[in-house]
Amino acid sequence: MPELPEVETIRRQLEPVLVGQTVERVDVLWHKSLVFQGVGTAPLVGRRVEAVGRRGKMLIFSLDGDLSVLAHLRMTGQLVWSDGGGTGGRDVATRVVIWFEGGGVLLFNDQRKFGSLVVLATDQVGAEGLLARMGPEPLADMFDADALGAGLSRRPRSTVKAALLDQTVVAGVGNIYADEVLWAARVHPESTTSALGAVQLEAIVRGLVEVLTTSLERGGATMRNYVDAAGNRGTYLDVAHVFGRTGQPCGRCGAAIAKIRVAGRGTHVCTGCQVLFT
Ligand SMILES: [Zn+2]
Repeated sequence: MPELPEVETIRRQLEPVLVGQTVERVDVLWHKSLVFQGVGTAPLVGRRVEAVGRRGKMLIFSLDGDLSVLAHLRMTGQLVWSDGGGTGGRDVATRVVIWFEGGGVLLFNDQRKFGSLVVLATDQVGAEGLLARMGPEPLADMFDADALGAGLSRRPRSTVKAALLDQTVVAGVGNIYADEVLWAARVHPESTTSALGAVQLEAIVRGLVEVLTTSLERGGATMRNYVDAAGNRGTYLDVAHVFGRTGQPCGRCGAAIAKIRVAGRGTHVCTGCQVLFT
C-alpha cells in the first residue's frame, strides 16, 4: 500500500506535468473508481489543473471552477502519466483514463479496486471524512515531539505500532515505515504509548524524518504493486533495516530480525536493540 514517500513521489512527478493542463476527455472503465461526492456528475472536461497536493497518503488535484479530485490509492492504486498521447502503461487494471488537451494521458490503475478518485467541491476537501481528522504531516517543519506526544496521548494504552498506523496521530505512515521508524528509534513496536518518555518521542520524530526522507530519495518502496507516475518501482526496501528482513542480522547489533504480529499486522523487530516500554 502506498504510504507517504510513495504518494509524495507521485505528486512531485505529476505536479510539473499536470499543472496548467486542461482535461479533454475522461473514460471510466470501472464506474466505482470515479465517485462524484455532492457535485452531481459535475463534468471534469474543460477544467484546468491548478495544483497537485498531498495530505497523508492522499493526492489532491485542485481544478479551476472550485472542483477537486482526491486520489485514494489504497492497496493497489497507481497513477501513471504518459505524455506521448498514447496509453502506455494501460492494462487490465486500468479503471479511469483522463486525457488532457496537451496530449498527455493520466491512467488510474487499480487491480483490487479498493481505491478511488473522488470528485468534490474544493471547499469541501477539508471536511472530507479522513482529511478532517488527519494528524500532522511528519515532514512538516512544525512537527516535533510535542506534536507526536499530543497524538499519542489520545491512545495511551495502545501499542506504539498501532498508534503510528493511526492516520489521526500522524499522517502517511503505514506498515513498512512504522517498522522502520521504530527500529531507528530503538523502540519495540509493542511498547505502550503512555510508557514512552521524551527521549523516545524525540527518537521517533528523528526516525520519521530520517526514514521517510531516505525513502523519498529512493522513490519510495515497492513490495508488490507500487509504481510511480513514470511506471518505475521504488527501491527503499533495498536499504530497509528490518522490513522484509526476517532472520537476517540487525545492522546495528547483529541479533536476528524477528517477525511478530502487532496491531493485526506482520511486524519486523530487532529484539536485540529495540527496547520494550510498558
Ligand atoms: Zn538490533
